[in-house]
Amino acid sequence: MARLALATLLVAAPLAAQDTPLDAFRGNLAAIHARDRAAYLSHYLHTPALTRVGADGVHQGYDDFARGAGDGWPDTLVATHLRVVPLSPDVAYGAYRYRVVDSSGSARGVSERVFIRTPSGWKVAVTTAFPTRNVDPPPMALVGATLVDGTGAAPVGDAVVVMRDGRIACAGSRAACPVPADADSVNAAGKWIIPGLIDTHVHFSQTGWVDGRPDALDLRDRYPYAQVEADLHAQPERLYRSYLCSGVTSVFDVGGYPWTLELQERTARSTTAPRVVAAGPLLSTIDFWLNLPDQRQFIYMSDEAAVRAAVRAHKAWGAAAIKVWYIMPPQPPDTARVSALVHAAGDEARKVGLPLIVHATGLWEAKDAVRAGARVLVHSVWSAPVDDEFLTLVRRQGTIYVPTLTVPDGYRQVSARRFERDRQPLACVDPATRVKALATDTVARAQRLSAAAVDERAARTARNLAQGLANLKRVHDAGIPVALGTDAGNPLTLHGASVFMELEAMQAAGLAPRDVLISATRTAAIASGLDSTGTVAAGSVADLVVLDADPLADVRNVRRIALVVRRGEIYTRRELEYR
Ligand SMILES: [Zn+2]
Repeated sequence: MARLALATLLVAAPLAAQDTPLDAFRGNLAAIHARDRAAYLSHYLHTPALTRVGADGVHQGYDDFARGAGDGWPDTLVATHLRVVPLSPDVAYGAYRYRVVDSSGSARGVSERVFIRTPSGWKVAVTTAFPTRNVDPPPMALVGATLVDGTGAAPVGDAVVVMRDGRIACAGSRAACPVPADADSVNAAGKWIIPGLIDTHVHFSQTGWVDGRPDALDLRDRYPYAQVEADLHAQPERLYRSYLCSGVTSVFDVGGYPWTLELQERTARSTTAPRVVAAGPLLSTIDFWLNLPDQRQFIYMSDEAAVRAAVRAHKAWGAAAIKVWYIMPPQPPDTARVSALVHAAGDEARKVGLPLIVHATGLWEAKDAVRAGARVLVHSVWSAPVDDEFLTLVRRQGTIYVPTLTVPDGYRQVSARRFERDRQPLACVDPATRVKALATDTVARAQRLSAAAVDERAARTARNLAQGLANLKRVHDAGIPVALGTDAGNPLTLHGASVFMELEAMQAAGLAPRDVLISATRTAAIASGLDSTGTVAAGSVADLVVLDADPLADVRNVRRIALVVRRGEIYTRRELEYR
């Protein structure tokens, strides 16, 4: 079923009497879907008067038209909102709304026809097509699926979700949500609807491989860092598609170069990108070297004045949060000085009204971060079991815990020079990134680690993961809100595609599928400060995923994506995949 084109899921009104203008209209569109040139041309008037109108004006004549027909069928044509208006017994006007997908992307528009009755049936005499950029998708309804709304409420069978102007207009039973007359329907019977997934921990300044993290494996002679970063800046669209393909409709970029802040405005009303919120350059307790000559992603917390100035600058830049990288510097660990700087960041963030989010994997640092006012902890505590003091502090502060369980395993795979390719759906990964990930096994033969070093890394990763899983269970059982985050962009934690590993790790920690889903939707929306609820409810942004299998039975079923909806635009999983 996942392979079905969206066009075949659209619920058409029953065919009326044969040989009407509407029949001719449907036959015309069916010929495009079938890529049947002869059938397609049979619908047009074979005269010099045949008129085509587009953004470039009027063209006339059948012969010219026929010569070009069939040269470039769209990969996908979604035709909805077909309307036919009879003008006289022999003339009818028709219009529909379309979305076409080709190699240049997805584009919406309106197309018209004028039909004339001839001895051989109704034929098209005039045809037009006009793109409608910056117009919200038309009203649509998903009908017949089981609705899992992301609040933890009992699922609703045979549900209807009506979407209008990029938001959910109604979600619930058929009785509660009748399909409005001006909406077209998609048949989702036998499927499950969940909110779009939200990843609260990503980095658009990182590629998903070591070329974006030469501190993990230095291949800068082959992949110059400045070039890698320039490519990321120039083409975030590749990663957008990976996210949508994986059912991820919003992401929180919690640290990167200043340009990542621009993605917020650019994606806010997009139907072709996930919603991005971003923290911008991160404040670091160590003076980390991985920056560009002309810009920094790590701002060193050298003293209190610098920290407070950096926080105020983030406010002016439009950052959604202040992210602190709380790493204890080696030798000598001047704990009091570092702690004072983190608290200064928290204090200044409070003054300017921005949430503080902290990377802290040590229990002591995590507690200190919460005392400094952390709204979100974006990593597990790895160093020790979380204790009652930690749980009390977190509860009192209202901190959200993002476990980010699977990212260290990507580094382990790098150290072992072996990419475990079956864990992330590579169909959702752009070809360039896929090639690099697959090259992990061979590209660095000259720099192989000793077997002992690889084993040591594997043992450390396994130890940390076990501690992370146990701590997640403890935190969840203590009633502390948990949000999903992958740390995508790090080596072999692929943008979008990594979300499934993280969902499954959270389930492996002992969380019920229902609670894992809430973490990946409603709580993740809160952690990201989104202007939507992350649930399927009237008024929320129409970001949804339609699954072929029950996610409440096993969160692994979230991999079985049939459709992805972003601000009311409905995509099949297949059209979002990279071939
Ligand atoms: Zn991170």
